[in-house]
Amino acid sequence: MSTRKRVAIDDLDTFQPAGECPNCKLNVAFIHRSRRQVWPELVELSFGRSSGPDFNGPSQASERPDMFRVVEHVLQCPRCRKTCVLHQHSGPDLPEDLEKVGEALEAKASKVRFTVCVYPAGEPDQLAPEAPESVRGLFAEGARCEQAGALRAAGAMYRAAVEELCADRGAEGNNLIAKIADLVNRGVPAELARDLDEARMLGNWSPHKGLNFFHDEVADVASLIKEAVFLLYVQPVERSAGACTASGISFTRTTIFTPST
Ligand SMILES: [Zn+2]
Repeated sequence: MSTRKRVAIDDLDTFQPAGECPNCKLNVAFIHRSRRQVWPELVELSFGRSSGPDFNGPSQASERPDMFRVVEHVLQCPRCRKTCVLHQHSGPDLPEDLEKVGEALEAKASKVRFTVCVYPAGEPDQLAPEAPESVRGLFAEGARCEQAGALRAAGAMYRAAVEELCADRGAEGNNLIAKIADLVNRGVPAELARDLDEARMLGNWSPHKGLNFFHDEVADVASLIKEAVFLLYVQPVERSAGACTASGISFTRTTIFTPST
């Protein structure tokens, strides 16, 4: 799992958001201690009981909030009593229908894009030590980019890591598509090879025009690479050590990619 500390906390804009405490790792109903917009302007979004349980009461913001904005939430865990600081990033919510885009821009329609736990912050993700150093290095750099929100750079690094992995496995082909396909002959399940192709497409980011990069996509590619590394480098070592303990590691990735049929 990516350690960019993407938070899985539900109902962040309520009095009692629920989810895993990043300090004690227990599932709790947090106490919502404060909420304020911190970018592009500092706007207190605190609330009185009269504003209702959903925070949608009047705030100091007299105008519609910016489409691009960051709202900081401070939650306190009722179990360990420690706080965590979350940044909720919002961006434009534009409809597919081009004729309605003007209307949405006018209304400053926006939605939450992703939420990051800025404190306690996690260390960037790393590949298992069994993986080749060259792959690990590229992956680590991608993870640092991902953590910093430099998603295109992360995509490029993850793509390079896949390329290096193909080279290490001796995958053959004239281009990366062919090499990834050839991984099937080198111990990678067909489904995983097909998914890994997403890393290639993600890293080949010029067609994305820089707009359609979502954190989930990048994080999923990181998970795919970790899965491939597990199957190709970690599991064989465990097996040869007579410890078939693959059950200790679960891959419950929820890929958002629909395999092409
Ligand atoms: Zn806690």
